[in-house]
Amino acid sequence: MEFIDLKSQQKKIRKNLEKRLFKILDHGRYIMGPEVFELEEKLSNYVSVKHCISCSSGTDALLIPLMAKNIGSGDAVLTTPFTYFATAEVIALTGATPIFIDIYKKTYNIDPDGIDKGVSIALKKGLNPKAIIPVNLFGLPARYRLIQEKAKKHNLTIIEDAAQSFGGKIGNKLSCSFGDVSSTSFFPAKPLGGYGDGGAIFTNNDDLATIMRSIRSHGSGIDKYENLRIGMNARLDTIQAAIILEKFSIFKNEIKLRNKIAQKYIKNITGNVIKPFTPQNYLSSWAQFSILAENNKLRTLKIEMLKKEKIPTMIYYKTPLHLQPAFKGLGYSFGDLPISESVSNKIFSIPMHPYLDPIDQDKIIDTLNNE
Ligand SMILES: *Cc1c(COP(=O)(O)O)cnc(C)c1O
Repeated sequence: MEFIDLKSQQKKIRKNLEKRLFKILDHGRYIMGPEVFELEEKLSNYVSVKHCISCSSGTDALLIPLMAKNIGSGDAVLTTPFTYFATAEVIALTGATPIFIDIYKKTYNIDPDGIDKGVSIALKKGLNPKAIIPVNLFGLPARYRLIQEKAKKHNLTIIEDAAQSFGGKIGNKLSCSFGDVSSTSFFPAKPLGGYGDGGAIFTNNDDLATIMRSIRSHGSGIDKYENLRIGMNARLDTIQAAIILEKFSIFKNEIKLRNKIAQKYIKNITGNVIKPFTPQNYLSSWAQFSILAENNKLRTLKIEMLKKEKIPTMIYYKTPLHLQPAFKGLGYSFGDLPISESVSNKIFSIPMHPYLDPIDQDKIIDTLNNE
């Protein structure tokens, strides 16, 4: 059994994928070829956002908007400590300071009630709070209505970290449309993954889009050899764009399949664990299906029982970011963000992908329910 099965998916698209790749070998436009623009247009139409700027990774998709907003030394950016390292890494890379805000017990997403406090902490440190990066963890969008209210009050730019949530929704609105800027990742294991690194940025803001396109390619102007600002080499390869285009053709159905599997898990897992909570009107893209054991010891036990049945598990995330060695300099200590710390101790993820065999799913459920 695989944790994420990319082989079954490849069988469905292999023929068309080969056709697309051969076409690129013929036209030879490996950098910014037509497939890149085709993908950007398809994705911006899908999420109903004016601009899609593809780029080299989900990490760069977060870094570029921070650079475009001139965020750096002396600035603070609020975010959640319960996420992948890259979310806060990019803040530190610009020279700005990450301020961590604790999460909701039930959704593991940032709790907007902590934003006021986060802003005062930043001000007390003599920093300018400039932005907030909410993360749509495991595919579930964060609580944007409340985040938007607080962001307006404190004049914060919202950068939606949608690396895990492409295809997720609140009502009829798709993830990647909730931020002033939204960022996603095409890392192979994400809901819409390529066969390598890649990412995309979405915004309705024309000026910001122009700046971010420029940063993506060495800060260039309309003339490629005129450099208006400091940028990066952060383009998406034509070959990756072609792969993502083929994967996108079956993506909507995959989100349905993931939700069907999630519903079966939720209905049938009855063992002593807490199952994921999806608020009304929210749709998760189920990048991960994560459950909470009662305590750390029972988590180890559950994982061992699953392992005996050859069922793979993962722990996202064992260490909240405020306790990561790399962020020691920020001065956080254990006890500062108790919900994130407690969830980190008890959470684990079970196999979740669109092609999970029903027999395998039953085996996972039975093993979990066997106390
Ligand atoms: C994967 C991920 C990223 C980084 O994406 P890459 O494409 O691996 O650079 C950022 N934030 C979150 C929440 C992620 O899960």
